[in-house]
Amino acid sequence: MSLQEYRRKRHFTATPEPSGAHRRPRGGTRRLRYVTHKHRARTLHYDFRLEWNGVLLSWAVPKGPSSDPGTRRLAVRVEDHPLDYAKFEGRIPEGEYGAGTVVIWDEGIWRPDDPNVDAALRRGELRFTLDGRRLKGAWVLVRTGLGVAGRSRQAWLLIKRREAAAPSTAGSAAATKSGAPRTPPASAPRTRRRQRRSAAPSGSA
Ligand code: MN
Repeated sequence: MSLQEYRRKRHFTATPEPSGAHRRPRGGTRRLRYVTHKHRARTLHYDFRLEWNGVLLSWAVPKGPSSDPGTRRLAVRVEDHPLDYAKFEGRIPEGEYGAGTVVIWDEGIWRPDDPNVDAALRRGELRFTLDGRRLKGAWVLVRTGLGVAGRSRQAWLLIKRREAAAPSTAGSAAATKSGAPRTPPASAPRTRRRQRRSAAPSGSA
């Protein structure tokens, strides 16, 4: 993982953000950090970050994460950030990249389902458990195959998974068994959500 893009975009004489120069090696199976920043830049968004291989893998989530399993949130993969960024809060001055205020909205640790995170990222489906102050439990990041900003950035979806204790939907189990991609096409979420809603007690009215 490289911080090249991160550094290229920023002037560390002007922004209070960490340069990532003090990179501490963090060995093996230590607890992996998780943080979501609330970033009031030109547009308000949330930056979802997972520690991996000495950096923070980062996704910009315009609407922020949702703990409702029926709600998929667009998460645009952005450049890796330095580990020090996990503790960063502050004001990025006008004229600098990402100008605005950054606060920690949630933080804690995360655990990948599959220890081979690099393979999961290449596959475009990263399943994991969050133990944050706000966000907990099973989540997944799924790459959509769509590009953002002239296709230079990958569009992923950040989705809360139903916990194992909850009855699983027949549809998703069948899809997995048949060998079909576990991710429905971009047009499917609407239908799925409606099915889930109608199954909920509150949908009986
Ligand atoms: Mn941001």
